[in-house]
Amino acid sequence: MSSKTSASAKKTPLMRQYEEIKSNHPETLLLFRVGDFYETFSDDARTLSEELGITLTNRNNGGDQTPLAGFPYHALDTYLPRLVKKGYRVAICEQSEDPESAKKAGRKIVQREVTEITTPGLTLSDQLLSHNQNNYIGSVFRRKGEAGVAFADISTGEFVLAEVSEAELKDLLEQIEVSELLLSRKEEKTTTAGLNRWNRTWMDEWVYEDGVGYRELTRHFQTHSLKGFGVEELELAHIAGGALLHYIRDTQKQRLGQIRRLQRYDFQRYMALDPATRRNLELTSTLQTGGREGTLVSILDATRTAMGGRLLRRWVTRPLKELEPVHKRLDMVEALHGDSALRSRFREELEGIGDLERLISRIVAGRSNARELVQLSDSLAVLPTLRTMLDGMEPELAAVICRGLHDLEPLRDRIKTSVIEEPPASIREGGIFKAGFNKTLDELRDIAVNGKEYIASIRDQLMKETGISSLKIGYNKVFGYYIEVTHKHRDNVPESFIRKQTLVNSERYITPELKEVEEKVLSAEERSQTLEAELFEELRAEVAEEVQPIQEVAESIAMMDVLQSFAEVSYQNRYARPEVDESEELEIVQGRHPVVEKSLPTSEPFIPNDTRLDQTSQQILMVTGPNMAGKSIILRQTGLIVLMAQIGCFVPAERARIGRVDKIFTRVGASDNLASGESTFLVEMNEAANILNNATRRSLVLLDEVGRGTSTFDGLSIAWSLAEYLHNEPSVQARTLFATHYHELNELEQKYERIRNAHVEVREHNGSVIFMRTLKPGGTDHSYGIQVAKMAGLPEPVIRRAEQILATLEEHRMQEDRIGESSDGSGHPRNRQAVRSLPDPVPASQMVLFQAESDPVLEQLRNEIQALDPDRMTPIEALQMLQELKRRIAPDGNGSESG
Ligand code: ATP
Repeated sequence: MSSKTSASAKKTPLMRQYEEIKSNHPETLLLFRVGDFYETFSDDARTLSEELGITLTNRNNGGDQTPLAGFPYHALDTYLPRLVKKGYRVAICEQSEDPESAKKAGRKIVQREVTEITTPGLTLSDQLLSHNQNNYIGSVFRRKGEAGVAFADISTGEFVLAEVSEAELKDLLEQIEVSELLLSRKEEKTTTAGLNRWNRTWMDEWVYEDGVGYRELTRHFQTHSLKGFGVEELELAHIAGGALLHYIRDTQKQRLGQIRRLQRYDFQRYMALDPATRRNLELTSTLQTGGREGTLVSILDATRTAMGGRLLRRWVTRPLKELEPVHKRLDMVEALHGDSALRSRFREELEGIGDLERLISRIVAGRSNARELVQLSDSLAVLPTLRTMLDGMEPELAAVICRGLHDLEPLRDRIKTSVIEEPPASIREGGIFKAGFNKTLDELRDIAVNGKEYIASIRDQLMKETGISSLKIGYNKVFGYYIEVTHKHRDNVPESFIRKQTLVNSERYITPELKEVEEKVLSAEERSQTLEAELFEELRAEVAEEVQPIQEVAESIAMMDVLQSFAEVSYQNRYARPEVDESEELEIVQGRHPVVEKSLPTSEPFIPNDTRLDQTSQQILMVTGPNMAGKSIILRQTGLIVLMAQIGCFVPAERARIGRVDKIFTRVGASDNLASGESTFLVEMNEAANILNNATRRSLVLLDEVGRGTSTFDGLSIAWSLAEYLHNEPSVQARTLFATHYHELNELEQKYERIRNAHVEVREHNGSVIFMRTLKPGGTDHSYGIQVAKMAGLPEPVIRRAEQILATLEEHRMQEDRIGESSDGSGHPRNRQAVRSLPDPVPASQMVLFQAESDPVLEQLRNEIQALDPDRMTPIEALQMLQELKRRIAPDGNGSESG
């Protein structure tokens, strides 16, 4: 016998069973049900203990010390979401028989099986799902530079195939926001670079073999081909889709009935937004906190249903490139925008609709209770009203939405007539169905209820017969119904009573008659409960049959909800309908930033601005202006207005004309991006390269302080050459807003016909700046950086010193300009020379002279000293000046010029 076998022979039967089950689910964290606990062993126990702070103990496993950690079964709802959120795949292994049956069958331990595997991308749990966001799992198969992609949300039943080039893959996955990604195990060691930001699961290679995927798909969707779904030719996507179906079936233990429709995702239909742009425009999460508050989604979301909330998020992250669907959405938004009464009615009706998509998924998976059926039926009640309201509307989308609102009255009737209005949460304890729904159930209930009355009548009878007025009939689990008589009346107890128990004050008895009734009553109750559970499962299966029409209804309701939300928000925030056309222009009149305008205090209203870009005279607008002037806001608001227009929403402007945009690119300078931990110059340049390699004439490019992550001259040179490239290269001649602090870039206007300068205006008043926030034509060469630093509260000595350094640098430059000295190309030595001539800083403690601003004489002295240039003084002049100064600050000098 090998040592291995002898070790395993020593193991307890429970551990042997555990190890066998664990070996079938090696990549999961296995929660193993033992009695009232979920237990984990070995590495899983260590993980559980570390991640959840649960005490790690040791189990003496026949000589072995196995680490062990566990928690009570009722804590599953608390711990499972925490583990899955951390990225673990968790398998739940339940006892599949009761200990009695195991004993009868002669087994030492009960049988157990894995009933469910929950993963980040596959869950139906409310604790893990957020109601206004889809939870997608993706699957990718790559070959020869192309990628087949499949993604699904099992909580809503969506299942989608797509094919893209490998280069587009990351953008696609970002767009969909997958929370788990399936890849072939073969890729584990090779080509996953670039995909490791996702939570990856490795699949066995055989599922990717040719033909397997197609077979999986046709088998699941019960069709001969995939032509009807418009995905027949997407061969790589079939392979990815097959792997995905296989994984879902495996983890969900066959429950995938909610996946009824196969859709095609045409990546090219949507405006390309790279990850940086998505982040910088703060579409769904903010740069600072990563939260939803302060994002575009949070402003636009006035949806009334969970499905609407999720669709809104999808629309915001997938703006359209084609005009027709944009116009259709805008037509519907306009109709609702112009009719406040109709809009409010829609909002009221939608309010009561539950999450149909997730309700039906849970119903199909056999997870829902009677309350959820009632919720489904109540939600369907509004359909006739919605249909009537839509019938009276002109826009084409009204008819499209209406067509999806199927008549589900028979299903609703079925639930309404069978289930009581407020059923219990449990499906095992009865009390679900109305009287009259099922004859056998009624009979059993009658016995159960009337049996109790019968027992009361037996008690009355016995009281009469025995003359014991205090005789009681009680019930306990040990010996069922019993008769209780106090000791005082013991002598009156008839002989037919069988004594069962003696208490301090009384005796307990039973009689054969009482036991007979008891048997009937108790079993009737139990049988009626079992029957109700069976009937409920039948009804639930019947409802599950309607999954497809219910999903279509949900889709229509989601669309209606998003459109009313756009209309409502547009109305509340005074947005205007944009013109979106085939032109190459971009004209925004009095545009605002949709998020910032809502966050400002009423005393500081948002200042709207006009922006114009075209392909003839103003393709690139160089925006200069001091720090804090509002340059970034103008760039971002332009991006957001274009995006809002192309998702079919009105825009925060008085008027906007948008020549269709195919891609938006944003590049925000390193200084602005510190919060997200990406401040390196390399990241900045990667993003710039991405723009230059992918922008087209139809794109919108927003460059904010490009080149700030390196030295001034390198940065300036890169920014300059980037602007030239965008102007001169016909294929990337994109409409561009270029915000910069390099005032030198204003020179580009002179050299190139389609580059124009603009600046964000500020005014100076008493040495401080006032931000006007208005974009004006022409450049500026003032930064006001030190004034902004002063506003921020930098210590006075630091500000003074900075002013001194700035004055020296500027003086130096002026002198060179006067002398006509030509630049040596780098500029550095000149600046170095200037700073070398700086006097040492005066320690703050000795700065009395400079702080005495209130004394006009000292202030004058200070100015005079500052104006001195020791480099241009002879030693004698310097000495004389020193004596003069000394005399003037002497106590008797009176600071006067005379003498
Ligand atoms: P920096 O060069 O320092 O990055 P910036 O010019 O890009 O500055 P922004 O970040 O755009 O400045 O704006 C600074 C702040 O000014 C904003 O956070 C906002 O509060 C306010 N602001 C900007 N534009 C406006 C506006 N049009 N109306 C009112 N307030 C505005």
